[in-house]
Amino acid sequence: MQTTIDMSSTSQYYLELEEQYGAHNYHPLPVVLNRGKGVHVWDVDGKQYYDFLSGYSAVNQGHCHPKIVQALTEQAQQLTLTSRAFHSDQLGEFTKFITQYFGYDKVLPMNTGVEAVETGIKLCRKWGYEVKGIPAGKAKIIVCEGNFHGRTSTVISFSSDPAARKNFGPFMPGFEIIPYNDSEALAMSLTDKNVAGFLIEPIQGEAGVLVPDEGYLAKAKQLCEQANVLFIADEIQTGLARTGKMLACDHEGVRPDILLLGKALSGGMLPVSAVLCDDEIMMTIKPGEHGSTYGGNPLACKVAMTALQVLKDEQMAENAAVLGELLRNELRKLQSPYISLVRGKGLLNAIVIKHENKDAAWELCLQLKNMGLLAKPTHGDKIRFAPPLVITKEQILDCVKIISNSLAVLD
Ligand code: PLP
Repeated sequence: MQTTIDMSSTSQYYLELEEQYGAHNYHPLPVVLNRGKGVHVWDVDGKQYYDFLSGYSAVNQGHCHPKIVQALTEQAQQLTLTSRAFHSDQLGEFTKFITQYFGYDKVLPMNTGVEAVETGIKLCRKWGYEVKGIPAGKAKIIVCEGNFHGRTSTVISFSSDPAARKNFGPFMPGFEIIPYNDSEALAMSLTDKNVAGFLIEPIQGEAGVLVPDEGYLAKAKQLCEQANVLFIADEIQTGLARTGKMLACDHEGVRPDILLLGKALSGGMLPVSAVLCDDEIMMTIKPGEHGSTYGGNPLACKVAMTALQVLKDEQMAENAAVLGELLRNELRKLQSPYISLVRGKGLLNAIVIKHENKDAAWELCLQLKNMGLLAKPTHGDKIRFAPPLVITKEQILDCVKIISNSLAVLD
């Protein structure tokens, strides 16, 4: 089995530029894109594809959503950056908008997802020392095996993926890794009085869309409350309508103490992330203790308000719930011997490939590309299917046909 790769000399030219001048820190599919609209992207030769990755869920609202593009271009001509040395007319509006949207006292805006995670960790530790009363230097944060929260040196310190850590030490102390989806393990770890927080992805995205058992999140939140420990939800990939609710935690009625958002907060326009929590936690950070030059810039604020508004106006969570169900059902109906599992929630889904060839998932993705659908394997044998949330029923059925036909490459 060796999938032929359709590629023009134009594509080859761009691939070679990246290969020669760019760091080799990713292993992308050999496709070079230059346009996007809604659920579709086009390569430099004009070939159209369904985007089944959505920029790892950053493009929930669809590529180049007209309202978000309009907000971006209008604000770009008005004022883009003040730094936090001065106020802007957009930051105040944004802080009011997003805190009311999610029901928290305050927000701290940052840029990338991992910066939101770093901010959440710093807030949690501050709260641990200054409110909970943990002795200096002893605060501990519990995290889960298989986690993915980003790539900074602190965040990889608690990764359980050897590739993320190899030769990047020494690592930041103060984290304990427990099994995911195991409330007994959590209860045990919470007996340590120095635990300040529990950081969790409500569904583990990078691990291959691992959905925990029903009731796990609610139980975990309850255990954290009993232990006076902050429940920190990393909804950077699962949030913003992706799983069929505004937040994945909403499926179990869980309100995180610290909520981390990123990715689709800008609809794929620019890096915008945010940390939301109540005053007891947020007010532990004082001027000069945390921040970022670009965090809360007027361009980001305007784009984020529009990106959030579009999610509600166009009922994207509802669409994700209905069409996610349809996608999983249709994939299961294929009864392919090469698909050992279909799992997910809303439009955050994955299939697990069963094949003697360990590169089968990659080969299948190459064939999907040839047939007009872009998806990427994660952890070898899993392929994530997460199209923009503006996808229609007809398009889902069309995509399932493409997937069905592409599976023949594994014969
Ligand atoms: N947290 C989760 C759950 C993610 O999926 C990601 C990125 O994939 C991050 C954090 C890091 O976000 P960024 O790449 O914007 O730093």
